[in-house]
Amino acid sequence: MDLFEYQARDLFAKHDVPVLAGEVIDTPEAAREITERLGGKSVVKAQVKVGGRGKAGGVKLAASADEAVARATDILGMDIKGHTVHKVMIAETAPEILEEYYVSFLLDRANRTFLSIASVEGGMEIEEVAATRPEAVAKTAIDPIDGVDEAKAREIVEAAQFPAEVADKVVNVLVKLWDTFIKSDALLVEVNPLAKVASGEVIALDGKVSLDDNAEFRHPEYEELHDKAAANPLEAAAKEKNLNYVKLDGEVGIIGNGAGLVMSTLDVVAYAGEKHGNVKPANFLDIGGGASAQVMANGLEIILGDPDVKSVFVNVFGGITACDEVANGIVQALKLLEDRGEKVEKPLVVRLDGNNAELGRQILTDANHPLVQRVDTMDGAADKAAELAHAAK
Ligand code: GDP
Ligand code: MN
Repeated sequence: MDLFEYQARDLFAKHDVPVLAGEVIDTPEAAREITERLGGKSVVKAQVKVGGRGKAGGVKLAASADEAVARATDILGMDIKGHTVHKVMIAETAPEILEEYYVSFLLDRANRTFLSIASVEGGMEIEEVAATRPEAVAKTAIDPIDGVDEAKAREIVEAAQFPAEVADKVVNVLVKLWDTFIKSDALLVEVNPLAKVASGEVIALDGKVSLDDNAEFRHPEYEELHDKAAANPLEAAAKEKNLNYVKLDGEVGIIGNGAGLVMSTLDVVAYAGEKHGNVKPANFLDIGGGASAQVMANGLEIILGDPDVKSVFVNVFGGITACDEVANGIVQALKLLEDRGEKVEKPLVVRLDGNNAELGRQILTDANHPLVQRVDTMDGAADKAAELAHAAK
C-alpha cells in the first residue's frame, strides 16, 4: 500500500524524522484557517499517489490566507498524470531552502537485502540526475540484521558526500528514517527533498512511503490508511473474503486456480473476444490451489455481483485439489448462492482438466444445472464464454 504524502508526513513525525506542520483538507475554504494558524503563509500541496506533483503545478506557495484558498481552489480537482486531486495538504512553509537532498531506504529484492539510496542533488530533477550522472547517487547495501545505526548512517553520508556542516543532521535523519522503515514494515521510505534550510536545519519536505501488505496483520493501524474513496467496492468485498481479485474493464467474469493459469485465461478470453464484439475479461480472480466449495461460492458471488459481467468462465486445472472436488464445489456453490437468495442468472462455462478431470466433468453433467455449460478445452471454453457475453450485451 502506497501512502499519501500527508500520511508519510505523519508517520515520519511519529518516528521523530524532522518534518513541518501540515494538515489535509478537501475543501478550499478550509485552507484559510490553517494558513492563518501557520502565521499567514503556507504551501498548498496536491495529495495524489504519483510523483512529479511539483512540475505538474500541484505544489504552490501561498503568501496569505486568501492566496492559500485560491491555490487550493486551483489544485483541488486537478488531474495529475491521471490522478484526480481530492485532497490537498496545507503545510508550513520551509524557511529559505538552501539545498535539496535525496535519501531513501528500500527492499532490494534482486540482492535479497535492503538498500539505501542517497544523493546531495535531490529535488525535482532526481530521476534526471540518476539517469545521466549515476555517480551522483550513492547506493549502499544494508544488512537486514545490523540495520542502520549511527556508524552505518555515517557510511551513507560519506558515500553520498554530504557537506560536513550537515553530516550530523543527515545521520540523525537516516537513523530515524530507518527506524520508521523497520517499525512500519515498509518496502520503501523516500525523502525528496530532504532540505537544508536557512536556519541550518535539515527537514523532510516530501515523503513517499510504501507499506508491505503482507505485514498488515501485525499493524492494526494500517487499516485507517486505506484510501477508501479510491477502492473499488467489488475489490473491497473480495478483500474482506480474502480473495485475490482485481476488477478489470470487461464483460467475461473469470475464476481460476493459480495466478499463472488465471493470467493466461485473461489473455485467451481477450483473444477470443476479438471475434465476439470485442468483449474482454471482467476481472482477475485466483481462488488458489485448495479451493473449497465455500471459496468457490465466495468467488462466484463477487463475480456475479459485478453488473458488468455477462458470462462467467471457470477455468480449473486440477492438482492437489482434484477436479471432482472442484466440480462438487461449483455445484454446491451454486446451491449455496441460491439458498442465500442470490439469484444466479448469468451463464457459466466450466473447463476442467488435470487430476480426475473425467470424474469432475461427469459430476457437472449429472448435476445438469441449466446455467452451466461444460467445455473441455481452454480455447473452446474461452470462445464460448466470449460468445455468451456478447450475446447478452
Ligand atoms: P513532488 O514534485 O511531487 O516531489 O513534490 P515536493 O513536495 O517534493 O515539492 C516539489 C518542490 O517544491 C520541492 O523540491 C521544493 O523545491 C518545493 N517545496 C516543497 N515544499 C516547500 C516549502 O515548504 N517551501 C518552499 N519554498 N518550497 C517548497
Ligand atoms: Mn518530492
